[in-house]
Amino acid sequence: MPSKNMKIVFVTPEMAPFAKTGGLADVTGTLPRELRRLGNEVFCFLPKYKKIDVSRWPLKVEVDRFRIPMGSEMELGRVYSYNDPGGARVFLIDQPEYFSRDELYGTPLGDYPDNDRRFIFFQRSVLEALKALRLKPDVLHCHDWQTGLVPVYLKTLYARDSLFLKTKTVFTIHNLAYQGNFPPDSLPLTGLSWDEFRLERLEFYGKVSFLKGGLVYSDKLTTVSPRYALETQSKEYGCGMEGVLQFRREDYVGIINGIDPEEWNPEKDPELPAPFSARDLKGKAANKAGLQQENHLKAEARTPLFGMITRLADQKGLDLLAPAMEPLMKLGIQLVLLGTGEEKYHELFRNLAKKYPSQLAVHLKFDARLAKQIYAGSDIFLMPSRYEPCGLGQLISFRYGTVPLVRETGGLADTVVNFDSQSGGGNGFVFKEYETKAFLEAVDRALRAYEDPKVWTQLVKNGMKCDFSWQASAKQYAELYQKTERRPVTV
Ligand code: ADP
Repeated sequence: MPSKNMKIVFVTPEMAPFAKTGGLADVTGTLPRELRRLGNEVFCFLPKYKKIDVSRWPLKVEVDRFRIPMGSEMELGRVYSYNDPGGARVFLIDQPEYFSRDELYGTPLGDYPDNDRRFIFFQRSVLEALKALRLKPDVLHCHDWQTGLVPVYLKTLYARDSLFLKTKTVFTIHNLAYQGNFPPDSLPLTGLSWDEFRLERLEFYGKVSFLKGGLVYSDKLTTVSPRYALETQSKEYGCGMEGVLQFRREDYVGIINGIDPEEWNPEKDPELPAPFSARDLKGKAANKAGLQQENHLKAEARTPLFGMITRLADQKGLDLLAPAMEPLMKLGIQLVLLGTGEEKYHELFRNLAKKYPSQLAVHLKFDARLAKQIYAGSDIFLMPSRYEPCGLGQLISFRYGTVPLVRETGGLADTVVNFDSQSGGGNGFVFKEYETKAFLEAVDRALRAYEDPKVWTQLVKNGMKCDFSWQASAKQYAELYQKTERRPVTV
């Protein structure tokens, strides 16, 4: 049966290139294009943050001064639109008091205290904007807690609205640890009834949980890798939501994220000192030499060069890495680290970089250009994550001929296959236990493989041949949209 083309509306707090703090933005920035290539129409809604550089995109006022119910009051908003050629029609919800701030969700001191208000406003605005635009979605695809109330609204306050009678909802968890849990006083602002404040619905340990709303009310749930879909149903990884996810397991799947092979292409990357490909790896050595030189590391072609690009947070394995740093340095390897995050890690790496200047270079900032140089110039890329819903770093590393060394969790477990020295198969190094010792053993295996250039080249090529482009994942989403059925809320 030929599949029907659909009108798909993404509701998301982030979208590249407009506003990004993590992998979610890459997903919502790329997936719409692929869905469109498959013949669908895609629309994206996100807040009009101050960070969005309006001089770069010609915006048009789409709905001027429309009224949004917030508790017993009405507040004003505005909708701008931008047509991404080849991609989605993007709608930006404007309310300067809420969104014209330096950051998306908060400062290093903590979350903005009115995040409940800000994202209630955003979610209500999306539904009101769809009505004002007479846009009838086949699917509303919501992303992370900031959009969890949208499926709730659709089955409560907007249940009788003719525009949404056939609309199906899909909710994607990009990181279960972020839940949008607020004090009960937030509930009146949502306009929802107190009947929603119970265990089977939005109540979560005495709070109103936007994420739980999405998990309970959406017709289908997805997350960004099959392994993470399984892990999140366990106590260890479920962040308290494991019960809801077990309950919804028939409707819950993992679809691995892809990367854009054009954006991440070492053959045509203008940021790199020399191009290279799986067929011709010569340029890779020039990238390594360049990275060593710029970072004042010794120019030694045969010294293994490790790279790491990450948020400096425990999730990313930093508490495991910290005690491994001295032993790593004693092995004589080199490491270039790029990242920002928790102050205690900034301090740790600043001190280590002073102690080992010819081996360790540390950049405590966000820098997309340097990131590419690290991906291209390193031999081994570290991702010892405690948990990792999908992870993009390992996929980018494959493209750039850099061998990932990862912990077996989430999307890392689904994409990195441990190297087998007997058969020459595999594309990286994997360790299981979340322990410094297990990590160092994997480093040891990697260094032994690195000693034999022939073996190593094989391993590099194995990774470069992997295809983690968006095409396959987009097809899975399109199939999921087709087979999603509207389901009643059963509890
Ligand atoms: P998460 O979304 O959990 O932070 P992902 O691996 O899914 O982790 O995506 C992180 C993305 O952000 C990757 O593309 C990575 O290269 C990039 N990134 C992370 N930190 C930095 C940084 N300091 N500078 C440049 N890019 C970064």
